[in-house]
Amino acid sequence: MTKQDVFDRIDEEETHLKAIAREIWQTPELGLHEEESARVLVEALEDGGFDVETGVGGMPTAFVAEYGEGSPRVGILGEYDALPGLSQRVASEPDPVEAGGPGHGCGHNLFGTAGVGAALALTDAVDAGELEGTVAFFGCPAEETLVGKTYMARAGAFDDLDAAMTWHPGDLNTPRMGSSNALNSLVFEFEGEAAHAGGSPDSGRSALDAVELLNTGVEYMREHVSDDARLHYSIPNGGMAPNVVPAEASVWYYVRAPTRDEVERNTEWLRDIAGAAATMTQTEVDERFLTGCYDYRANDVVSETIWENMEAVGPIDYDDEDRAFAAELQATVPDDRIESRLADLPDETAETIRGEALYSDPVAPFDHDQQTHGSTEVGDVSYITPTGQFRGATWPVGTPGHSWQVVAANGDFGLKGVAFAAKVLAGATYDLLADPDRVAAANEEFDAEVGRDAYETPLPEDAEPPFDVTAMGAD
Ligand SMILES: [Zn+2]
Repeated sequence: MTKQDVFDRIDEEETHLKAIAREIWQTPELGLHEEESARVLVEALEDGGFDVETGVGGMPTAFVAEYGEGSPRVGILGEYDALPGLSQRVASEPDPVEAGGPGHGCGHNLFGTAGVGAALALTDAVDAGELEGTVAFFGCPAEETLVGKTYMARAGAFDDLDAAMTWHPGDLNTPRMGSSNALNSLVFEFEGEAAHAGGSPDSGRSALDAVELLNTGVEYMREHVSDDARLHYSIPNGGMAPNVVPAEASVWYYVRAPTRDEVERNTEWLRDIAGAAATMTQTEVDERFLTGCYDYRANDVVSETIWENMEAVGPIDYDDEDRAFAAELQATVPDDRIESRLADLPDETAETIRGEALYSDPVAPFDHDQQTHGSTEVGDVSYITPTGQFRGATWPVGTPGHSWQVVAANGDFGLKGVAFAAKVLAGATYDLLADPDRVAAANEEFDAEVGRDAYETPLPEDAEPPFDVTAMGAD
């Protein structure tokens, strides 16, 4: 039972894994409502002999699957939620299956499936006694709303891990070393008095005025936060009709910054502004805290293990037909968007890739110093256990995430990325389970760089998984 046997088993299972990824692609489900997607993954794991616990963290579609026993305990994280409004066929122009319906615009149909494929492929080596310890797969719902892992972490799901790893579909095969922004997601709900806006406005108090004053206050706050901080909002409820003074209105904020401390400071400032807006308008304000997450801290030892395996696995085997369809999709992306993507890369790498529609050769890690301004609750896991992640090239170079082009790619040639990512995850997990020194080194680094007890849940005690959040138009 060598690592090559594990890779061979993934090759044998490729047709099955692609069928699972296609099934999830055909059944796109929004965060916390991924019943069918979670079910196919759980079934595959149970068929493979895993013990599965569902309903983790109070979320029916969150689960933890385990095989083997004792330590080291290595976790593979997977996601399977879709995005609203991105329904799309396999086509090189916008063509929804269901107008306004959801679609896999972030490739999560591949994401969870590859992790499950990796976990299943390792069981023979555990049975043979070649590997000691536990392989754990974490079914993490609602990544797009940054909910799943944070609520799973609060329930202690990741506490006993010795290391964790994950991947994400993208346009390059490369480990991810850079950080991401920590975040709080919260809604301010104002309540005033309804009245006829023409006949008796003096007896009304407008909740929408409060929302507008809050947003105006934030525009003045914006200049005085750090360059990497972000505050953005949408208005899920702005009242119903101009002739009714809105008695209820709400505004949903994301507060992002490179550290949790800065997110907390800026959130306090935002709360002050919300309170002041209520005072100015003689309305009442309530806060509903949806979720929060940490910045991401890559563990060098785990990331290096991923990179070694990425090099060993080699490029994804795309053929001429895949490249031709990828080129058609890429042609719909503006040139300046592709150029700005290439500008993130080292010059030499950018020159090699320019003009390629699909580029799946492993790219050495290059983003150590990059702070991306988006967020991921993989960050939370990275504050609990040594964590590594990588991107897999399953859509055309320069294609923006959360787009119809991504949905089209990942219902077609992107399916080939499943076996690739499964091998990298399985190979890296194999190396950790087979080598206690490597696990110890990862944990020494974690203790020195992050700190063993650094994680405190960003969630207030009364926060509950926001099952209605997609109905508010989350993205
Ligand atoms: Zn994603």
